[in-house]
Amino acid sequence: MDFLEQADARWLWHPFTSADPADGPDPLILVGGQGEWLVDSHGRRYLDGNSSIWCNLHGHQHPRLNAALEAQVRKIAHCSFLGTGNEPASLLAQALVETLRGPSPLGFPDPIPRDSIPSRVFFSDNGSCANEIAAKMAVQFFRITGQPGRTDLVAFEGSYHGDTMLNVSLGGIGTFSEPYRALTLPCHVVPDLRALETRIAEGFQPAAIFLESALHGAGGMIPHPPGFMKRVADLAAKCGAFLVCDEVLAGFGRTGPFLGCFAEGIVPDFITLSKGLTGGYLPLAITLAPQRVFEQFAGDYYSGKLLYHGHTYTAHPLACAVALENLKIFHEEDTLGKVAALRPAFEHGLDAFRKMPGVAEVRSRGLIGAIDLVARSRRGDTARAACTAMRPHGILTRPIGNTLVIMPPYCIRPENLTRLFEGVSRAIRQVMSE
Ligand code: PMP
Repeated sequence: MDFLEQADARWLWHPFTSADPADGPDPLILVGGQGEWLVDSHGRRYLDGNSSIWCNLHGHQHPRLNAALEAQVRKIAHCSFLGTGNEPASLLAQALVETLRGPSPLGFPDPIPRDSIPSRVFFSDNGSCANEIAAKMAVQFFRITGQPGRTDLVAFEGSYHGDTMLNVSLGGIGTFSEPYRALTLPCHVVPDLRALETRIAEGFQPAAIFLESALHGAGGMIPHPPGFMKRVADLAAKCGAFLVCDEVLAGFGRTGPFLGCFAEGIVPDFITLSKGLTGGYLPLAITLAPQRVFEQFAGDYYSGKLLYHGHTYTAHPLACAVALENLKIFHEEDTLGKVAALRPAFEHGLDAFRKMPGVAEVRSRGLIGAIDLVARSRRGDTARAACTAMRPHGILTRPIGNTLVIMPPYCIRPENLTRLFEGVSRAIRQVMSE
């Protein structure tokens, strides 16, 4: 272990990671990155196989994103957003809404009633917060408009909306909520669409229905069946609940269209964005809310009609400047075209795993690939062992349970995509033969 690894092992506490060093691979400290590559403290190079937890789009050290960050830091790094604004936040909000509503949408199908795409931008720092804010807005809206009892929030089993307490309550992954049961809030996690349909037919009137767009990500990268999102949207409309599309993972082209929900022509009431928003550079999130909701939040400071939410670093100028440049890249460099062009090779690479011994199932949506491995032990840790075995082949990714996640940055070169799949394949063969 070098000094950095020792300091990490001695002082740090990592998210979603055991405190027992024997339970995981050796620590690995990343010190650099370039394009689709990451570099550790020993100078070893790894392909970024999960886009640094699903958010890097154009690669590390992207010249345009670096330049935007440097230009902004020379103006101002941070100033408060409570009552004051900042230059990149204004520009980003305008650019984002124009992108979503504008005449040259980034590859989503017509006809979409673009005028109804939510247009009020509320900033926060991460995807969990963005969802929690949508929930607060929805519930407070009904309170302000004379339905204070309309507070129920709905989400689907297997969904993940973040790890703050509201999201843990809302999320459908028991492992993440059970230890905190005493702190959770009453939410309605429904097993499937049919259960929700039945409850709504019985008169259930939730405030909001949360839907992970395109797929359940942290729940195992499980794509929704065709028509599912549309049916959820129809149900929300039927019972007058807000539909919140969580685009934290699916947004910014990760599943093909600019937003995952556009694949089924849906216009949600709320849209939450994070991860790809800054191209994977800085923590930033957005809750896009409808104008008609915003307009109800008018009153004096003590009226109970303000959205009582905001953080020290809300609308961080550095993050907003990078997000704005990211959006420009989408427009000027045909990012969605690049994603579409990568798809056949990505699919082809994944296909090779379908008949591989030890592989139970292979799924994909856009540039998200999932390979379920056959469990070697009751703990189902084969995928984790495979991820450890990938490291010497220069591949980094992180499993979900017994599922390998393959999610490269959009900038990956064809030869490195091949290299990525070869490394994964070798690692699977290795753990299966042990
Ligand atoms: N929603 C979805 C769909 C996610 O995948 C995630 C993160 N994996 C979140 C919300 C939470 O985002 P964050 O980790 O930035 O809080």
